[in-house]
Amino acid sequence: VTADDVNQTSPQKLLSPVLSAFWDQPESWTLDVYREHGGYRGLAKALQLAPDDVIAYVKEAGLRGRGGAGFPTGMKWQFIPQGDNKPHYLVVNADESEPGTCKDIPLLYANPHSLIEGIIIACHAIRSHHAFIYLRGEVVPVLRRLHAAVAEAYAAGYLGKGALGAGGDLEITVHAGAGAYICGEETALLDSLEGRRGQPRLRPPFPAVAGLYACPTVVNNVESIASVPAIFDQGKDWFRSMGSEKSPGFTLYSLSGHVARPGQYEAPLGITLRELLALGGGMRPGHRLKFWTPGGSSTPLLTEEHLDVPLDYEGVGAAGSMLGTKALQCFDETTCVVRAVTRWIEFYAHESCGKCTPCREGTYWLVQLMRDIEAGKAALSDLDKIADIADNINGKSFCALGDGAAAPIVSSLQHFRAEYEQHITQRGCPFDPAKSTAWS
Ligand code: NAD
Ligand code: SF4
Repeated sequence: VTADDVNQTSPQKLLSPVLSAFWDQPESWTLDVYREHGGYRGLAKALQLAPDDVIAYVKEAGLRGRGGAGFPTGMKWQFIPQGDNKPHYLVVNADESEPGTCKDIPLLYANPHSLIEGIIIACHAIRSHHAFIYLRGEVVPVLRRLHAAVAEAYAAGYLGKGALGAGGDLEITVHAGAGAYICGEETALLDSLEGRRGQPRLRPPFPAVAGLYACPTVVNNVESIASVPAIFDQGKDWFRSMGSEKSPGFTLYSLSGHVARPGQYEAPLGITLRELLALGGGMRPGHRLKFWTPGGSSTPLLTEEHLDVPLDYEGVGAAGSMLGTKALQCFDETTCVVRAVTRWIEFYAHESCGKCTPCREGTYWLVQLMRDIEAGKAALSDLDKIADIADNINGKSFCALGDGAAAPIVSSLQHFRAEYEQHITQRGCPFDPAKSTAWS
């Protein structure tokens, strides 16, 4: 796929920069630059509405969670009980760690005030006076920048006493995690925030009923919350003018792999990979797309035949995968799919929290078998064995990590079984790893 494959004279027209509109400006992360670009205008409009009306507005806009599952944001806010005596909390999931996903971290680094403004609006809606941002601990420069932005917002009176209008105080606590993939699972994140080892809790009860400190809690992804101010500033109809009926709005796509210009691209939901590749300069010269992930390695692989699938929740679902985090990892014909899947399984085995048997044991077994297949030391019957193990993980594990681990096995066998068989019958990998830059 090259840029010419897209019948469009200017692929740049496909972009819809909102969150990334001024990332390239000097000091884009400061309050002054944020306000120069319309920052905190949406908040002023939202604070004129009653909390329930804010929720209704977000529901009508159709914003869906950008963390992977696509759950309607307004509906999640509405689950918070009314008139109870418990504190309500907002927890922002900034523990971005799905392989290939790199949208929230750059967003926080370049434009942290969009998240802070979104937090204030969300807290007004759910009647919360304390929000937490749970950030992946390794990204120390982002942590520093986030602390600085929160301090600026306090100094400017957006946070602290009276932040939510008369009598409405709001505190934000920034918390750095310790770098475990499972702590991105919302209930494991809450356990970790409470000071315990991060392991998923049984749901229901969902966090909206019993979340942080057993109180009603909304857990939202960074991009979901950061998208809210623009909806109030520019209106729900403007938001709905982008994307599709069931998946409206703009979003951040992470394009990576054997692509001429990998990076973050902000465009409407429903754009296709063919169009995104046109924005990214196509596959590297002289090569063609072999397989790709719509939402990181936890979503089933797709191939060249899926280039025109709309990248929205319905379109990717109909193609047999999931939109997930919109992490589009593109691999060309020099990539050994067995090798790629082995790396991913090693990741899941390493990150499995160990709470449930199918995932803890199954990912361990899969690593052994995949390494044998890659090295040409397996038997053809081992292909049925890995399919059987994946089947015993998928839908039978305690949390979504298990399903994610099974996804690349099942989908790669579906699309590339002959390549697996080749490893076994030829007693080794038929690919020359030196020709592929994606895996070293
Ligand atoms: P889910 O569909 O179970 O839940 C989505 C959200 O909706 C949750 O916040 C949940 O609390 C809420 N919810 C669902 N049903 C509810 C109900 N009946 N009442 C109240 N609230 C309800 O998905 P999940 O297991 O939370 O997340 C899985 C997704 O995470 C995957 O799609 C994957 O793409 C994504 N993921 C993201 C990353 C990342 O780095 N961003 C990493 C791994 C996985
Ligand atoms: Fe832990 Fe894996 Fe079970 Fe999730 S599926 S609870 S990560 S062992």
